[in-house]
Amino acid sequence: MAWLKIVCITFLALMIVGCGSNEPNNEPKEDVVVQKEEPKLVSNISVEKQPFGKTAAGEAVNLYTLKNKSGMTVKITNYGGIVTSIVVPDKNGDMADVVLGFDTLDKYLAGHPYFGAIIGRYANRIENAKFSIEGQPYQLTANDGKHHLHGGKEGFDKKVWSGEIVGEETEAGVRLTYLSPDGEEGYPGNFEATVTYLLTEENELKISYSGYCDQLCPINLTNHTYFNLKGEGNGDILDHQLMINADQYTPIDEYYVATGLIKMVKDTPMDFTLQHAIGDSIGQTPNGYDHNYVLIDYVGATRLVASVYEPKSGRALDISTDEPGLQFYSGNFLDGSLVGKSGKPYPKHAGLCLETQHFPNSPNVPHFPNTIVQPGKIRRTTTIYRFYAH
Ligand code: BGC
Repeated sequence: MAWLKIVCITFLALMIVGCGSNEPNNEPKEDVVVQKEEPKLVSNISVEKQPFGKTAAGEAVNLYTLKNKSGMTVKITNYGGIVTSIVVPDKNGDMADVVLGFDTLDKYLAGHPYFGAIIGRYANRIENAKFSIEGQPYQLTANDGKHHLHGGKEGFDKKVWSGEIVGEETEAGVRLTYLSPDGEEGYPGNFEATVTYLLTEENELKISYSGYCDQLCPINLTNHTYFNLKGEGNGDILDHQLMINADQYTPIDEYYVATGLIKMVKDTPMDFTLQHAIGDSIGQTPNGYDHNYVLIDYVGATRLVASVYEPKSGRALDISTDEPGLQFYSGNFLDGSLVGKSGKPYPKHAGLCLETQHFPNSPNVPHFPNTIVQPGKIRRTTTIYRFYAH
């Protein structure tokens, strides 16, 4: 439910009559009573909007700060729908920012590997930047060699979204909307994407995605936040202990494109069915983890799919979603050249992404869960990131 922003300004001009004395008062007396009511926050969560700068095209960009009573703070900009900051306590109550990113818009505009951003229209790679729907071929922008990655050259991560503060008593945040015109990056149909970020009193960040298109088109939205539960800039994530509720994954070729195969994780370095350190077997992978997991119990209901625990700080993160897949990317292409908001560089494995999604390259793989949505039908998905410490 959107908050009612009531700004009620009442001007009362009081014409002063004679005060009853014999001396007439010819001085007109005017009282102006201004009643200004602040926006009503029908919520325990505060949401503030501040200017965050302008794009090269001169579009104004805002930064929304969501804060709950226990002090968890999330910052989101409507440029790319980027989550720029998530500050949460460790087991001693000490706060740290656990996501990679920058503190100015200019640094995001200068280019970065999708830090915190909404990815669309289609998360991850589409082979040869091509697919067909009902025999009609579509050519997408090739922005990763000959392949299409994360929605193309100028995906949803680089768009200025409309923002609206939303909320109710127990959760509040910002609803972002972007209208992608027919043919953008090669995709068919006019597409409306809505992504709502809500902070709850239980230290959860809930992301609700909805996609609607006026033609048959593929939809696969996600968020590309890089987490480091020690605090961003505090080394790598190899000591983070990870559980992924998946006994299968979708193998990739040398260009990181899903081949269409589905393989068991058992007895391979891909196995995170029991929680263990990411660094345990990462050396046996080609260049770190960059794979889609086939999550168990995919029936469209939201369930716990992954947990991360960082032993020193005691910070933990649970991820729940109604999606069938999860991309585990261990920050393999970070190389120390980007310096984050606390002035420290982000080396290889400085953060990990857990991107809830439909499987990469599904438009070219008929046996993967369907991503093509009928015109007029809304595709809705939800992902919840819950933080705690022990
Ligand atoms: C992909 C990686 C890619 C990265 C970009 C991940 O979602 O799986 O292959 O390099 O995004 O930062």
